[in-house]
Parts: sequence; C-alpha cells; structure tokens
Amino acid sequence: MFLGGLGRSGTTLLERLLGELPGVVPLGEVVHLWARGVLADEPCGCGEPFGRCPFWREVGERAFGGWPSELAQRVLALRHRVDRTRRIPAVGHPDLAEYVNAYDRVYSAAMDVAGGTVVVDSSKHASLAFCLSAGGVSPRVVHVVRDPRAVAHSWRRTVARPEDGRPMTRWGAMRTSLHWSAQNLALDLLPRRGVQVIRVRYEDLLADPRTTLTALAAELGLDARLGFLDGTTASLGPAHTASGNPMRFAVGQVRLFHDDAWRGGLPPVQRAVVSGLTAPLMTKYGYRGAAA
Ligand SMILES: [Zn+2]
Repeated sequence: MFLGGLGRSGTTLLERLLGELPGVVPLGEVVHLWARGVLADEPCGCGEPFGRCPFWREVGERAFGGWPSELAQRVLALRHRVDRTRRIPAVGHPDLAEYVNAYDRVYSAAMDVAGGTVVVDSSKHASLAFCLSAGGVSPRVVHVVRDPRAVAHSWRRTVARPEDGRPMTRWGAMRTSLHWSAQNLALDLLPRRGVQVIRVRYEDLLADPRTTLTALAAELGLDARLGFLDGTTASLGPAHTASGNPMRFAVGQVRLFHDDAWRGGLPPVQRAVVSGLTAPLMTKYGYRGAAA
C-alpha cells in the first residue's frame, strides 16, 4: 500500500493508525530510507539508529545481504534519474526496473520479517507511485488530502526535527500552494494508469476516526479490528518507520485532534494566495466555501 499526498497532510498519522491493524506493516517513507536511514543512520521509529534496529537489519540482510552504502548511493542516483515529478508523463526510463526492484526487495523482505500481509510505504510522492506501477509493483494507493490553507499554515511553522534537532524545511504560502496542486493533480492521474486510488480527507479522518478507518479497511480488504481506538484516543505501539514526520515516534495514548490552527494563524493575505492558487482542486475536494 502506498500513501500519497503533500507533506503535512496527515499521511504519517494515517500510516500509524493503519499500522495497528492486524497484518499491516508500516515502513515509513521508504523513499528517504536510502539517505536518512542507510547513509545518515537516523533513528528508526522504534528509537534505535537505523543500523542498530533489529527489524531493518534483518530486512537488509534478506533483501540485499546487508545495507552497503554503495547500494544507497546507487538507488539515490537512480532516483535522481527516474523518480522526479516533472518526469511523470515519461516513466519508460531504462533505469526504472533497477530502481523499482530495490523497493520491491525492501517490501518483500519487510513482509517476510514482520510476518504481515500488507506493507505500507508512506513516501507520499506521486512520482514514486508512478514509478512503482510502471515497474510492475502496482501498489494500492491511498491519497490523503487536507485543506491547503491548513497545509500552508503548517509549512510556515518552525518545527525541530526529532532526529537531529535541526529545523524542518519551511515553505511560504505560494510555494506550498504550487506543491499542493502538483502532488494532488499527479495522484489524481494515477487511475488512468490502472492504479486503484482511494482518497481520504484529513478532516474526515479526524472528525470520525472509527468510521473513516472502518470504511478504508473495508475498501482495502483489511481486518478492521479497531480495539486500539477509543473515541479520539489511539493506543499506538512502536513502529519501525525508516523516515517520516515527528509523529512516527509517538507511542502510547495519542489523542487525535483536528488541527485547524490555520483559521487563527494564517494571515489573510496568505490565505487569499492559497485559495486563489489552489481553487480548482479545493472545489473538487470539497474545501470551497468552508469558512474561506
Ligand atoms: Zn526499528
């Protein structure tokens, strides 16, 4: 299963919730595993450095006989050539098979090591979903959308990365709007390539987690055992996520709340920029007129 959407749209949260379902194995953002996990040895979601996490050690052993840095550098070079948003219409690149094979090996090994039935890659980027489907992996895609005004507000904020304390990337309203439109448009094009895409709105997930997760599990053919969910509180166990936003480290009782701080925090000019630039898709996803 592949979780798509622009960052700060709730993909990590959804991955953690799906990861509590029987047989589901959340891997985090596999697209960043090569640089942040293998090369930089950043912590896994379990808290151990990537190289010391028993889960990822075993996955690497099975998939590649270990995690040599040459492998990560090779995948990053391939990524640079084939996995880019502006190349989405032409994915017939000669390096595509080798690139997709690296992901396929990670997914298969992770499934075996965890003894699960579904692995979740929350890499988010539409371009990777295109590469995977063109390369024969054919993931089921869950497309998470969130009101672009909330997404823009989130990207403006200063947040420290738990991995190294450095600030996370910040974008202005215009840049966020363009990325939001590009990613969502690209994910909307996936069904034309025969990929099954299920769209989930962040706002619906947070308004009623149980109903949204039950419907999603039914569509995905998953066992919707939601014993970990009590109203708007989820009990989360540790997850071996290779990369992702800070929410991947949350363990224990986690309160699910709809973060709508943008309503008071996003200045009117920025709000107008976002609404103007993203208008067609806002209408399509039902965000038009929602207290604009
Ligand atoms: Zn781990």
